[in-house]
Amino acid sequence: MTAPLASGYRESVLWHEAAPLDAGTGDGPLPAEVDVVVVGSGYCGLAAATELARRGRSVAVLDRGPLGVGASTRNGGMVLPELKAGPRTLATQHGDLGRRMFAAVDEAFDHLEALVTGPDAIACDYVRTGRLELASGATSAAALRRAADELEEVGHGARYVTGADLAAEIGSTTYPAGLVVERSGGLQPARFHAGLVARARAAGATLHPHRAVTAVRADGVDTDAGTIRAGDVLLAVNGHVDAAAPDLRRRTLPMGSFIVATEPLTAEQQAAVLPTGRMAYDTRNLLSYWRLDADGRMVFGGRRSLRRTTVRQAREVLRDRMVDVHPQLAEARIERAWGGEVAITRDRLPHCGRSDGAWYAGGCNGSGVALNTWLGHRMAGAICGEELPPFAELPHPRVPPNRAVWLPIVSTALRAQDRLDRIRRA
Ligand SMILES: Cc1cc2nc3c(=O)[nH]c(=O)nc-3n(C[C@H](O)[C@H](O)[C@H](O)COP(=O)(O)OP(=O)(O)OC[C@H]3O[C@@H](n4cnc5c(N)ncnc54)[C@H](O)[C@@H]3O)c2cc1C
Repeated sequence: MTAPLASGYRESVLWHEAAPLDAGTGDGPLPAEVDVVVVGSGYCGLAAATELARRGRSVAVLDRGPLGVGASTRNGGMVLPELKAGPRTLATQHGDLGRRMFAAVDEAFDHLEALVTGPDAIACDYVRTGRLELASGATSAAALRRAADELEEVGHGARYVTGADLAAEIGSTTYPAGLVVERSGGLQPARFHAGLVARARAAGATLHPHRAVTAVRADGVDTDAGTIRAGDVLLAVNGHVDAAAPDLRRRTLPMGSFIVATEPLTAEQQAAVLPTGRMAYDTRNLLSYWRLDADGRMVFGGRRSLRRTTVRQAREVLRDRMVDVHPQLAEARIERAWGGEVAITRDRLPHCGRSDGAWYAGGCNGSGVALNTWLGHRMAGAICGEELPPFAELPHPRVPPNRAVWLPIVSTALRAQDRLDRIRRA
């Protein structure tokens, strides 16, 4: 069935309505010389610029579009300290580095919470809701049970839930089991971004939207409006990496992710679908993620395959999935639909360090609200001579070329794996 649409339906980002993209031209002409050029005005670039400026560095942030045009004002707003694997698994796979990577993600969560709570908090509707990860079948349920044990071992409140405990968390019979983790939350992504813009400016960084960096040079960058001399350059481009960073581009797979938002639900509907208000997502390779926003809308995201998809095609798929999970929402009308780019890496882990003659950080595989903000903050320290985040110690493998050939095959395989897991219900 075609999705029922609200009369004011638009293909546009819901979050931009409360926090519009800055239409301005930025903070004056490009400087001829700075200590650091930051490429990209998302969470990562802004967090880096703020910290660098606070440490006395002159910083210019350039973005080829409006400030925040990338994933940072389009995402689901889920604040999730996770690396797709639990702490014990990470330690088994990577030894001490695995332990430090888990600690880094944990630190990223604390760092984000410090920005959005307390007296100088960025106002962005942050609530520590906890998260609910949902198993599609027996294999993923077993994985969630292991994950609960692993998180418990390191003192994180985590519960494997089934039956009545699961029913108390979600009004859906689609999933046989779930994992509840308290250390997670939700925010309004564009309001959070606007707060980071204000902090970067207050710290003294200058922000330059609609200015593309076209190449990194040994002594700075070329841009579409001239050259800037700089001691250091930070590529904070994540899934938007382009020809200015050819090496990083070979290591990153940009992948569309899409979201639909319903009209505000009634209090009864909200309580019927997500009674505890947690950030919810499932364990499928091509996962769905969903939450309620501050106005009680159902915000439901995901994608159907790895193939190119339009917002309209994605809207139909997401609305069907939403109703599969929550039949209570069969009549709920879709008010907004939009998409954005996430940065997938071959090992599904974030990376940072040096590439293309510059510093870089990114590749958060769809979980970068806390992590990319923290990575930006920590890369500022690294540029000032401190230790790099642990992810810099990982080899950063290339994504195979000829994506047009292998992506459809991988996509079909992932969907088959997802179907098999669903068939083998716990
Ligand atoms: C639909 C969607 C849902 C998501 N949901 C979640 C979620 O719920 N929770 C979560 O943790 N994460 C989520 N993510 C991921 C998260 O949004 C990202 O990891 C994070 O925002 C990345 O921040 P960033 O600053 O590294 O990059 P971005 O915000 O993508 O910014 C990169 C910027 O670099 C600029 N740029 C690139 N090349 C150049 C150049 N040559 N010159 C100038 N500028 C350039 C781009 O214009 C862009 O503005 C989601 C992402 C999407 C798309």
